[in-house]
Amino acid sequence: MISTLQDNAIVLSERVQRAALRVDRDPEEIQIVAVSKSFPRAAITAAYDAGFRAFGENRVQEIRDKYAEPYPADIEIHMIGSLQTNKIAQILPYMSVLQTLDRVTLVSALQSHLEKTDRHLNVLIQVNVSGELQKSGVSLNEARTLLDEVLQAPRLRPIGLMTMAPFGAHEQVLRDVFSTLRILRNDLQQATGAALPQLSMGMSDDFEIAIEEGATIIRPGRSLFGDRN
Ligand SMILES: *Cc1c(COP(=O)(O)O)cnc(C)c1O
Repeated sequence: MISTLQDNAIVLSERVQRAALRVDRDPEEIQIVAVSKSFPRAAITAAYDAGFRAFGENRVQEIRDKYAEPYPADIEIHMIGSLQTNKIAQILPYMSVLQTLDRVTLVSALQSHLEKTDRHLNVLIQVNVSGELQKSGVSLNEARTLLDEVLQAPRLRPIGLMTMAPFGAHEQVLRDVFSTLRILRNDLQQATGAALPQLSMGMSDDFEIAIEEGATIIRPGRSLFGDRN
């Protein structure tokens, strides 16, 4: 299993490099968040040994169980699932980045917990670019309102936008979704003066297209850890 992960890691990093070079980007500017949701702590340890430092998780209870034992201080846990307001206190000690800020009501709840613990939190605004009903995230039109709220919350640091593309869509559809997120980011930067350097987009099946369209954070899971049960 360990050798499989190391093999996968090599293939993954070669794919990232090739995609970046195709569009004249520096592969070093692309952060890989290894999506370890549903995989055991041993898989995280193996990925850490292979050089990964950022891990994506989507369930609060799973995070508390998996990271109960001490872990290296340079591990970053990115929350990539929907966060309920009543779980904020439980997850805050583990979370380095909230990639899925998807509604105004989360902002004040996060702000007050962060004040209590004297912390700041990096957040990405999750945008439902494709408009699929089952997907979380604000619409393209609502993104500005949510960003304005975040900019009023001194403990929250908005660092960019995140999206999920429709599953199994054709390449051109994926490209449109990713480039739409990039254009929205550019528009929001212009309109508010806020710096939003990060674009989190691309999973195992579509991260190369996402990189070509400007992703700075990709979120592969299966291509590193193998299939989830
Ligand atoms: C599960 C998940 C991923 C990883 O998906 P893979 O297909 O395993 O690469 C990435 N982002 C989010 C938000 C996810 O929920």
